[in-house]
Amino acid sequence: LLQKLNAPDLLKTGVMIANQWRANADTFDVTNPASGSLVARVAQSSVQDAEQAITSANAAFPAWAALTGKARAGILRRWYELVVAHADDLALIMTTEQGKPLAEAKAEVIYGASFLEWFAEEAKRVSGDVMASTWTDKRTLVLKQPVGVCAAITPWNFPLAMITRKVAPAIAAGCTIIVKPAEQTPLSALALAELAIRAGMPEGVMNILPADSQRSVEIGTVLCDSPVIRHLSFTGSTPVGRILMRQSASTVKKLALELGGHAPFIVFDDADLDAAVEGALQSKYRNAGQTCVCTNRFYVQENIYDAFVEKFSEAVKRIRVGDGLAPETQQGPVIDEQAICKIELHVADAVSKGAKLVAGGRRIQADTLFFEPTVLADVPEDALIMSEETFGPVAAIARFSGEQQVIAAANHTDSGLASYFFSRDMTRIWRVAEQLEYGMVGINTGLISNEVAPFGGVKQSGLGREGSKYGIDEYLEMKYLCIGGI
Ligand code: ADP
Repeated sequence: LLQKLNAPDLLKTGVMIANQWRANADTFDVTNPASGSLVARVAQSSVQDAEQAITSANAAFPAWAALTGKARAGILRRWYELVVAHADDLALIMTTEQGKPLAEAKAEVIYGASFLEWFAEEAKRVSGDVMASTWTDKRTLVLKQPVGVCAAITPWNFPLAMITRKVAPAIAAGCTIIVKPAEQTPLSALALAELAIRAGMPEGVMNILPADSQRSVEIGTVLCDSPVIRHLSFTGSTPVGRILMRQSASTVKKLALELGGHAPFIVFDDADLDAAVEGALQSKYRNAGQTCVCTNRFYVQENIYDAFVEKFSEAVKRIRVGDGLAPETQQGPVIDEQAICKIELHVADAVSKGAKLVAGGRRIQADTLFFEPTVLADVPEDALIMSEETFGPVAAIARFSGEQQVIAAANHTDSGLASYFFSRDMTRIWRVAEQLEYGMVGINTGLISNEVAPFGGVKQSGLGREGSKYGIDEYLEMKYLCIGGI
């Protein structure tokens, strides 16, 4: 990897606290999921490192909060420009540790950078409020102030963007932050931190604590138990989200949780079939199906069902699977053995319950993490895949007849993150969009994420929204001032 980078000094393997790199003797391995080979040994953060990161972020907070929004914006903007300038190297690092095709990694770098740019702009627009008073001798004002020291725990599926989506609004608001990146993908986080230092981020404003899975649990406890940390933002699985919510109760932290989804994708018979197939491919197979907004269940109306299954599965068979670094690759490996076992289980379970295997269905080669892009048709509602998140390149398709029936089926889940449907009937578009119990609805599109839109879920998919003009509110407190004696 080092030889391939234009700027080899972006490959950092230390713990980063107060802009200092610590090369701890204790390390953990980062491997390439495409080959299983070792990419780097990364310093394992100790519990003492976590405590020092908290101290450092707390010490940095008053001065950082006291800067003008414009001053903070300048640093964020420089960071944005450095990330864009090093997009090729960042993409290479990401593909090597995460597996996604290089083009997708590059797209993630640009998407991740967009939050730095967006919140650099928003930093200047944090404004309070003046209310009409109910007393003639008093005035009523609202100040917006940074929450304080924040923590972020992030997943491996978007090693860079899930960090910028949290860190950018936090530091734009005047907070300082400690990031615990996913154990599988610390190198993207550390490269990002190096660029933050170069952009002029003051000491302690951002600190990074790489750790393996076991140490991550311990560090999670330290972060949750600390009364200094006022806000925790987590993206990851719903079970871990519940643990962190429980652990945060003792210090009554503010929480932002982006948890699992189980996206339905509905194709009505008035849809543009080619557009629906295109949207389905994008929403299902991106990142080998490993995104929380990936479709898990397709519902296709009876008149268009056979045509959709045929066109879609033909297109799926053309997806080229391989090492993400090869230019022709469209789908890389999945992240680890546990992930591929769950995918195999979901396929076997659906087939045993009567689903038809129309494309793929197997691991491409024993002892590798490549899974064939798969399509299952006629999947019964009681198959695991219809209620559990698969996080893999498997499309489960079921037939439906009526609008109300499919809305009820789509809403029959504890998740409520992304949903999608295709229709060209304006009245139906409104009816269905309003009734879907999801935080996000893609209508005639399978791609919805960008920095301008509020990303987040309802029900057990989480709390809060990231990105958009609302995203910075997570990191701001309101303070009511009542001025009397006027
Ligand atoms: P995934 O299934 O996507 O790996 P996880 O929810 O297990 O999702 O992991 C997401 C992030 O949460 C990772 O950074 C991981 O290290 C961290 N994590 C997992 N378990 C805990 C825990 N008990 N406390 C704190 N962090 C945790």
